[in-house]
Amino acid sequence: MILHKHFDVNEKGHLTIGGMDAVELAERFGTPAYILDENVIRANCREYLTAARREFGEDALPLYASKALCFTGIYKLAAEEGMGIDCVSGGELFTAKQAGFPAERIYFHGNNKTDRDIRDAMDMGVGRFVVDNPDELRALSKEASKRGIRQGILLRITPGIDPHTHKAVVTGNIDSKFGSAIATGQAMDIVKQALASDGIELIGLHCHIGSQIFDLEPFSDAANIMIRFIADIKRECGYEIRELNLGGGFGVKYTEYDREISYSSAIADIARIVRSFCKTHEIAMPRVILEPGRSLVAAAGATLYTVGSVKEIPSFRNYVSVDGGMPDNPRYALYQSQYTAVIANKADKPRDYRATLAGRCCESGDLLGENMELQRAERGDILAVLVTGAYNYSMASNYNRIPRPPVIMVKDGEARVAVRRETYKDLIRNDVL
Ligand SMILES: *Cc1c(COP(=O)(O)O)cnc(C)c1O
Repeated sequence: MILHKHFDVNEKGHLTIGGMDAVELAERFGTPAYILDENVIRANCREYLTAARREFGEDALPLYASKALCFTGIYKLAAEEGMGIDCVSGGELFTAKQAGFPAERIYFHGNNKTDRDIRDAMDMGVGRFVVDNPDELRALSKEASKRGIRQGILLRITPGIDPHTHKAVVTGNIDSKFGSAIATGQAMDIVKQALASDGIELIGLHCHIGSQIFDLEPFSDAANIMIRFIADIKRECGYEIRELNLGGGFGVKYTEYDREISYSSAIADIARIVRSFCKTHEIAMPRVILEPGRSLVAAAGATLYTVGSVKEIPSFRNYVSVDGGMPDNPRYALYQSQYTAVIANKADKPRDYRATLAGRCCESGDLLGENMELQRAERGDILAVLVTGAYNYSMASNYNRIPRPPVIMVKDGEARVAVRRETYKDLIRNDVL
């Protein structure tokens, strides 16, 4: 096993993903290619659903934050597993619709929904809008009134938590493009505006404090602040908030230095905390919603590349260049995100070589990692970067006119193309002149 139990080494010394030989997958589908172990995603959905129903009752609905990995097949999978979803744009809504995802289980997020987004989402009949700000609320109310409907909404609230200092830093997160802050009084203002708006039914509150969080404390702080605010709303407006969406953000193991968390026990902990805060603040337990993205799909993925040039610069470093890079995985360039890499055809050999993994764009920041431990690499090797299921394909670009890789789903010894490889022709499809 390497990091996660679906990454292993077979008798040929090759890396396997969900039991399938990564070198054979690379031969069959070409490189670069995203490989996804479907069983891992399904098992994660089931873990969230089972835990949420156990802790919050049969009507609990975990949402898949679909910006993490978005294509029609993933929406079909989420629908089959009984999940709800988050969408944040007209394009994600359209993709979900094409996949036949039930609209009433869609929560529509985003800090700047256009008028067209609002109309399209209402045409589809999305279950809830998560309203970010007063301007949006006015636009939504106008459109709902025109249609003679009452649109169910949640309000996005900024509780003022910095998950990485593990404190409620009341000034820190007020300065955000997302939501309305409790500390400035703007959260209470938008609650009152929602209650007074035609065509709007205020159902709940939403907060999302960050991503790749391994500790319970930031969630506990957020729950406490949000429940206190729900009690304030009850006192000041005589209105009971029925849904509390605590966002996503559970951490994933990308390297040997990360912990692995049990989502089932984290959900049990959150439930216990929410129940006790509700008791303290004397409010009824709301329907609690979680919306994981990364933790449902990240570990299921790996990206396969072919090694090209290997350049050793004496007394500096070794560069191993692959046939992909920041266009298929911009996360190192954006955030210095850490990954684990394996030479798939030498997976049984020790990782005793250090290298900077470089992409092939005209950009010195086009790296997949620095100072990474690898097996000794040579031109023609197949290199796998593990745990790329989240925020890779969904963030991919065509920079340098590099076509996007395909997404291949493996399950029980079968591999299927879920998204085909882009062609050069696809690249000029919209070029008119
Ligand atoms: C990104 C996002 C999520 C998912 O976050 P993960 O860290 O991927 O779990 C959930 N809710 C909102 C509003 C988000 O923006």
